Amino acid sequence: MKAAEVLDDLRRRFPNEPEYLQAVEEVITTIEDTYNQYPEFERYNLIERLCIPDRIYSFRVSWVDDKGVVRNNMGYRIQHSNAIGPYKGGIRFHSSVNQSILKFLAFEQTFKNSLTTLAMGGAKGGSDFSPRGKSDMEVMRFCQAFMTELWRHIGADTDVPAGDIGVGGREVGYMYGMYKKMTHEFTGTFTGKGREFGGSLIRPEATGYGNVYFLLNMLATKGIDIKGKRVAISGSGNVATYTAQKLISLGAKVVSMSDSDGTVIIPDGLTEEQMKFIFELKNIYRGRISEFAEEYKLPYYAGQRPWKLVQADIALPSATQNELNGEEARALLANGCIAVSEGANMPSTPEAIKEFLAAKILYAPGKAANAGGVSVSGLEMAQNSQKLSWTAEEVDAKLKSIMAEIHNQCTIFGKEEDGYVNYVKGANVAGFMKVARAMMAQGIV
Ligand code: NDP
Repeated sequence: MKAAEVLDDLRRRFPNEPEYLQAVEEVITTIEDTYNQYPEFERYNLIERLCIPDRIYSFRVSWVDDKGVVRNNMGYRIQHSNAIGPYKGGIRFHSSVNQSILKFLAFEQTFKNSLTTLAMGGAKGGSDFSPRGKSDMEVMRFCQAFMTELWRHIGADTDVPAGDIGVGGREVGYMYGMYKKMTHEFTGTFTGKGREFGGSLIRPEATGYGNVYFLLNMLATKGIDIKGKRVAISGSGNVATYTAQKLISLGAKVVSMSDSDGTVIIPDGLTEEQMKFIFELKNIYRGRISEFAEEYKLPYYAGQRPWKLVQADIALPSATQNELNGEEARALLANGCIAVSEGANMPSTPEAIKEFLAAKILYAPGKAANAGGVSVSGLEMAQNSQKLSWTAEEVDAKLKSIMAEIHNQCTIFGKEEDGYVNYVKGANVAGFMKVARAMMAQGIV
């Protein structure tokens, strides 16, 4: 089938999976020209095989809350493609999780992992369980119940999960503990583990730092210095906080942070002291960004996202999918935004992406810009295999060079006739070609 026909067919077969179809459409429309240059791809119906996950596990997770009430959630693992390496991708715990969202994430992960230069396939998993408002014991019981089902489908050379929204060091620790008990083995089957049991230095920081490194590469193409630039960030979780930390160290001004309840504006830029407060608030007390606003008497906008509230030179959406729409993109551009680099997965809607590309600003899609997280996960797997741990400097240096290489690949495949780099096209074509060649070599399986 031709690329466009595959898209129509997927729309017909999966009408209730909007996020999955959105992610697939973006990739298919940008790789179509390249794909159609290879008649052998069409003969092998490669694009359809690449869009449909290898397999999907879904299961019930029953656990008991602190009041003794029996609760039931859904659990999933989407193993999208292991053409270039073991399945690899995070686990998301959030009330919004469903099969469509995890399918889009696993699909994106396949291309992202291909870009990292490391040998990792694509996967994603999760549950509609939300850790928010739950006690530590409830989170532990849920993680254990989730693993009693998932453990049989994963393994160090089979499928290696990690964190994502709602899954940080605490949840990975509980899941890994149960996995170890079930398998009677100590293997590197999770990444994002604690330092004491095989975790890599710089893994917690990697997605945020990596996004800033990617941004620096983009800015360098225009000779622009990050120092003094006003940067709007959304979210206040793992990705957002380490992005902000790195930016502050480089002399940029972080002018917003948010969570699912609202946005805080920091007109003069976040200070290191305020950053420390947010880290503790989010990781120890599991509080809300409104509490930070209250503590420092900063403007807080309940129920609003940052993009229309603040003048920013740069926007780094780092919370969730579809959190920046066309209208917000136009507001950012009208206020002089010169670069958008996505910490989150698919945070910009298709309409917003169109605006950024039409304005020819520096725009990096998540699968390139946030690939630092999974890259350092790959480095964690390498360290686990060697039974060694590398220094923070070594890991950080590798992360920087991987982000530079991803930027380089995007430039090679995304440069247009007038010299503008379309990073969406660059990332999709570069990611696709590697997986496609591996699939062709391995036959129809
Ligand atoms: P966290 O759970 O640590 O933080 C998520 C942040 O986003 C929180 O501030 C959360 O607010 C906010 N948020 C979540 N859902 C929504 C929503 N529906 N509307 C508004 N705000 C929301 O997750 P991460 O920082 O790990 O992940 C953030 C994004 O980065 C995700 O898209 C993830 O897929 C992506 N990513 C993460 C990687 C990683 O290594 N962790 C790697 C690559 C990509 P609240 O506290 O109110 O829920």
